[in-house]
Amino acid sequence: EAKKSGRGVVRVFDESMDESIRFRRQIEGGLSQAIANGELRLVYQPIVAREQMEVVAFEALLRWNSPQYGQISPGLFIPIAEESNLIHELGDWVLDEALKMLAQWPGQYVSVNFSPRQFRRQNFVGHVVERVQHAGIEPGRLQIEITETAIFDNAERAADTLYRLRQMGFRIALDDFGTGYSSLYNIRKFALDCLKIDRSFIDGMGRERESAAIVHSIIHLGHALGLEVVAEGVETEAHLQALRVAGCSHYQGYYLARPLEAAVAVEIANERYMEPVIEQATASNGT
Ligand code: C2E
Ligand code: MG
Ligand code: MG
Ligand code: MG
Repeated sequence: EAKKSGRGVVRVFDESMDESIRFRRQIEGGLSQAIANGELRLVYQPIVAREQMEVVAFEALLRWNSPQYGQISPGLFIPIAEESNLIHELGDWVLDEALKMLAQWPGQYVSVNFSPRQFRRQNFVGHVVERVQHAGIEPGRLQIEITETAIFDNAERAADTLYRLRQMGFRIALDDFGTGYSSLYNIRKFALDCLKIDRSFIDGMGRERESAAIVHSIIHLGHALGLEVVAEGVETEAHLQALRVAGCSHYQGYYLARPLEAAVAVEIANERYMEPVIEQATASNGT
């Protein structure tokens, strides 16, 4: 192909490769300074349950305000960190920060995202236990969110890690469920507490029968396996109603609340119940 399209094309291609590699290196360089420079913070999105709209948990979401690039989405910088060793330093910062917040909250648990490389590191269980003990937090108040990618590459080892985490009392959630390789048949091998239905299915529910059918099956089979099922990306009243009809009791999404600054999240945690849509409490860069 390259031969046919001639030299010019090849050169353009090479230049754009250079460009993206340079960009990644810049992001990496910036990230390696970000912790020391205080450019990172966590925002917290409520997870709300049942008719009463009880705030049962918060998901901690990382934000980076880079002096060079401004607010950069974790969707962009986490994969770059994941390809270097930075993910461990970043992940430890996230965990410690979330545990610090937990000490200020009454009953709720915090759900923290762990990337596949974090999850697969040597002695991951011991590492998490040590930090949780150091923070003086009960393991049951930390939910470890992993994706299907983290567990299906080496299913046996992952099953063992999850089992041991669960033995220690941690909660385990499978994030973005339905987008990876796992099936409802396979997940029974893993020690889980919670399935988070990927928001693409919630988004499709009103438009396509397929998405609605998938959402229904995940909810029913998840419940049948004794798992809590959380719908991600609940953006409208219609989503919420459809999910209720489908028997889903746990919701997360902009319709209920955007990710919130820590101080606002603490207030909401203390109130315990919330009304849908609290625009005024939205974090400035919380999306
Ligand atoms: P995720 O774990 O699936 O987190 C949910 C994402 O959906 C968040 O994006 C959240 O802000 C967004 N979201 C919540 N409700 C809605 C909604 O109603 N509509 C829409 N369109 N989006 C909604 P965010 O914060 O940009 O994070 C993106 C991803 O980056 C996360 O997806 C997670 O995979 C990763 N991430 C974020 N923080 C961390 C972290 O501390 N560690 C690791 N390893 N990954 C993180
Ligand atoms: Mg998540
Ligand atoms: Mg998710
Ligand atoms: Mg995601």
